[in-house]
Amino acid sequence: MDIFTHAALGWAVSPTPECVAGSILPDVALLGHRRGLQPPLAYRWTHSILFAAAIAPLSPQAALGILTHIALDIPTHGVKFATQPFYPLAGWHLATATEWEFWNRTWITAALLVAFALTYRTIFLS
Ligand SMILES: [Zn+2]
Repeated sequence: MDIFTHAALGWAVSPTPECVAGSILPDVALLGHRRGLQPPLAYRWTHSILFAAAIAPLSPQAALGILTHIALDIPTHGVKFATQPFYPLAGWHLATATEWEFWNRTWITAALLVAFALTYRTIFLS
């Protein structure tokens, strides 16, 4: 998913700078990555709940943001960038047929998830 939607979901879940930063942190592993190549190994690590668990003692809000990132990437990536949330313990993933792109069905799924989180927070946590 794109970085703006990740940030929007992080903000929708918890409007703190740490959560928003955590929501985009996992894709830092893709800096310098050339389009068309397989994702680097660091990508697998930063998209694992173990990464969120490692960050949690330092910043629980950042860990929450990382978890929103992982939750958003699971249903919106194809086989190549499939998120393996239990890496390296298990390789389970839910790869859709296509990688996300703006306006395709995976992006619509993400937009609905952001809207749901924002609505939930507005109604139940305000
Ligand atoms: Zn990602």
